[in-house]
Amino acid sequence: MADLDVAFPVLSRADIAALTARGKPREVHAGDTLFTEGERNRSFFVVIDGAVEILEHSRGEPHQITVHHPGQFTGDIDVFNGRPALVTGRAVEDGRLVELTPANLRRAVDELPDLGDIIIKAFLLRRELIQASGFEGVRIIGSRFSPESHRLRDFAQRNAIPYRFMDVETDPEAEVLLREMGVPPSETPIVVGQMGRSHRNPSNEQFASCAGLTVELEPGHVYDLVIVGAGPAGLAASVYAASEGLDVLTVDSLAAGGQAGTSSRIENYLGFPSGVSGQELMGNALVQAQRFGAQISIASAVESLGIDGGDRRVNLVDGSRLTSRCVLIASGVEYRKLAVPRFGDFEGAGIYYAATPMEAKLCQGEEVVVVGAGNSAGQAIVFLAKSAAKVHHLVRGNDLGRSMSRYLVDRISKLTNVQPYLRTRVTSLEGDGHLATVCAESADEGELRFNTSSLFLFIGADANTDWLRDCVELDNKGFVVTGNSLPRSITDNDRWSAAGRAPFLLETSLPGVFAAGDVRSGSIKRVSSAVGEGAMAVSFVHAHIGKMV
Ligand SMILES: Cc1cc2nc3c(=O)[nH]c(=O)nc-3n(C[C@H](O)[C@H](O)[C@H](O)COP(=O)(O)OP(=O)(O)OC[C@H]3O[C@@H](n4cnc5c(N)ncnc54)[C@H](O)[C@@H]3O)c2cc1C
Repeated sequence: MADLDVAFPVLSRADIAALTARGKPREVHAGDTLFTEGERNRSFFVVIDGAVEILEHSRGEPHQITVHHPGQFTGDIDVFNGRPALVTGRAVEDGRLVELTPANLRRAVDELPDLGDIIIKAFLLRRELIQASGFEGVRIIGSRFSPESHRLRDFAQRNAIPYRFMDVETDPEAEVLLREMGVPPSETPIVVGQMGRSHRNPSNEQFASCAGLTVELEPGHVYDLVIVGAGPAGLAASVYAASEGLDVLTVDSLAAGGQAGTSSRIENYLGFPSGVSGQELMGNALVQAQRFGAQISIASAVESLGIDGGDRRVNLVDGSRLTSRCVLIASGVEYRKLAVPRFGDFEGAGIYYAATPMEAKLCQGEEVVVVGAGNSAGQAIVFLAKSAAKVHHLVRGNDLGRSMSRYLVDRISKLTNVQPYLRTRVTSLEGDGHLATVCAESADEGELRFNTSSLFLFIGADANTDWLRDCVELDNKGFVVTGNSLPRSITDNDRWSAAGRAPFLLETSLPGVFAAGDVRSGSIKRVSSAVGEGAMAVSFVHAHIGKMV
């Protein structure tokens, strides 16, 4: 089926009748506005008679994206997640529509799987088509060399916020826009949102709030489950928990998708014979969780965990306090840094921990350095080699095959613009405001200097467990200990006697608090195991809550 038929299908009479039964009729007149850009939680409309045009104004002038005729429907994935609409919908003829609230649409998609499939596929494709059509989204104006500009672009990219970056160093339009707004280049980066509202160097929390990524928390509400971390483990748990009727909230300090969302191509995830980009896999998982009604709040970092009688308390950095019967720790790991002088000067200004299309664009046609010997380094090399002039690959050990999958080693060995350096370590970094040179020491070749503005690091990771402090048992590397690995001294204590049972497989030293994915001691650090553990954890949540009632 052609893309446009999938994105803008005409529903059958039976499907229209099924939606009519779940919505309410609405008469419209030519010129009536149904929803406007920036509006959150908008309804979904099916056209019965008449026509509805969809417009966008991101480039200043109105652009008509499409006109929905009888049997067609409005909306894209933002109908499920409540984010601000990117487009405006307006009746162009007098007519009749059926209106469904987001909750009614969610119910319809659950109850009518075939129709649900048509709607979800259309929503996903519409988002791709609008971005490919020149839609500009928010504008981030700043210098490509500024760490703060990089932070904002990274945040937008990882959270699928459509954006256009305007580089003050090279883009004459950026200069004109800044002059019009009366902002000197020294006060960039600046984010200009829909309807022209601008924010100077917003924090991730402010950006998330404007982009509608934050969930309104209800004071005093007791959740069944709060999930900390929306990587593969947290998202899988969100899908299962929401689809099985649990009252669940998932919070993430940065973006849904976790590390997997930064992977250029995941080749070993079951069901994708030709591989899948991490952003696509995780983007679909997010939509899936939200379509089941999971609430996912982004840029909501957790500061600590506590106990409140029989409930658990999750304290956010912004001062919010969440109460929940169970908690799932799915906070994963954080990439390791190099212990070399001036490292901090170049974070976000030439040092990267992911190789996504955004970073590839930044170093297009240039030489880059990749450090690391695992699969994530291998994937990055394969991806970057397509756009970089040369990839210098630095490895501390003397055998790549020990830590990298064979398929990646073979693929890299065939790339003519990749130069490996075994038994080599980075010694120092140089540059003025932005990375310019990576200095290294090679056991075979002595001192090396690479003139490059991009250093990619994939040198392992440490558990994200600072926020757990003395609350749950950690192993000597800081990973969360669960189930049978918990020492007898803990499982024999009063808390477990009161619980009247032994800890479940993924349960921590605190009853009702579970851990899944990379953060868990002894887990296999893979997308599929994180997904599996996230799903399993939900069955233990049911068992724990069942015992509590
Ligand atoms: C570049 C790269 C490529 C990879 N490629 C593959 C591959 O091809 N195949 C494969 O199987 N595996 C791959 N992996 C590994 C895989 O991505 C991880 O094993 C998987 O993402 C772990 O999932 P997780 O949910 O346990 O944790 P993570 O993915 O680490 O997610 C944890 C989440 O928790 C959030 N968080 C952390 N602390 C807090 C806090 N205090 N408050 C709120 N939120 C918090 C983080 O922001 C993050 O989103 C790759 C990893 C990388 C980095």
